[in-house]
Amino acid sequence: MNPLGVYISIPFCRAKCTYCNFASGVSSIAAHQQYVSRLAEEIRNAPRATVDSVYLGGGTPSVLSPLLIAELARALREQFSITPDAEITLECAPGQLDDAGLAAMLELGVNRISFGVQSLVDLEAAATGRFHTRAVVLNDIERMRTAGIDNLTIDLIAGMPHQTAASWQESLDALAATGVPHASVYMLEIDDDSRLGRELISGGSRYHAQAVPSEELTAELYQTAVAFLGDRGLAQYEISNFGAPSRHNLKYWRREPYLGLGLDAHSMLRTPERRFSNTDVLVDYLRGAEKQTHELTPAEALEEAWFLGLRLNAGVSWQALSEEFGWDMVASFRPVVQELCNLELVSDHQGRVRLTPRGVLFSNEVFARFLGVNELQPLL
Ligand code: SF4
Repeated sequence: MNPLGVYISIPFCRAKCTYCNFASGVSSIAAHQQYVSRLAEEIRNAPRATVDSVYLGGGTPSVLSPLLIAELARALREQFSITPDAEITLECAPGQLDDAGLAAMLELGVNRISFGVQSLVDLEAAATGRFHTRAVVLNDIERMRTAGIDNLTIDLIAGMPHQTAASWQESLDALAATGVPHASVYMLEIDDDSRLGRELISGGSRYHAQAVPSEELTAELYQTAVAFLGDRGLAQYEISNFGAPSRHNLKYWRREPYLGLGLDAHSMLRTPERRFSNTDVLVDYLRGAEKQTHELTPAEALEEAWFLGLRLNAGVSWQALSEEFGWDMVASFRPVVQELCNLELVSDHQGRVRLTPRGVLFSNEVFARFLGVNELQPLL
């Protein structure tokens, strides 16, 4: 069996960002302890496997105390055979990993840090409830490098309140100046049930809803980032990702097996191909709620292969799909691909189907076309 990726969900944050409604929240140290005990139990009950990537995400896993990190590390090392070259990523809020926490993470084997920066313009970061400033981010990057971690990535969000083309360029310039080998750029998605989302619907100014850029400007900012980062050696390889690819995240898009452990964590195992997930309700998770399991039919697996593969700039190969699913099944997608080509949302060249730049902006609509392909109505 191929080595697994393991995703560990830590659903705690020091404060809630105004646009976020993930299954994450601000909790007491006692809640952290209870959660890590339950998580360690889940790890010990997981199938034994060789693991070549571990991703600690959330939430903000860097909020855990060194003792709890050590408890997690023990459970992971006892249950899994982690390869010597494994990629071990920690999501980290700038300014929130003190020296003791960093030492515990190094002990765990963390060799990649993903900074949830979102904006390197202090006004924008503060407007969404983030605590850090640009100076804090730059200081953290130096600290990580001094500690021997060069594999760093910065997340930015296009469409933050108060963002303009000029301030976005400031963030991009500051990111490029750090020399990090990887960046992620997302277009702001505001959950309707977040504080900012509710303010956008019902009006008000407390969460800066009036300063959220238009969808058109947000799309332009994203496209600026694609060109800018590409010119600086951080080539786009996935809709939101640039630079040296993350081994762990590639597994999701290539449909390689991974285990997700913790609140609201999702897993995918092959032979038979099945997906399962944990509850997103913390009290239920702590009580040991059953996982939801779904065994994929070949048709569902093929749909996934399309919409996950299309996220990558490398696109989807007709031949690779045919080898996995058989030409008859794959050929049923020809009309959809042709329709999307006509709309200039995908290209179909040299045996590979890829999103066009326009298709990237309409990617959700494109992906929806690959679902239930035999029941489709015309798109436009
Ligand atoms: S966006 Fe990330 S850091 Fe902010 S509240 Fe949500 S999970 Fe926590």
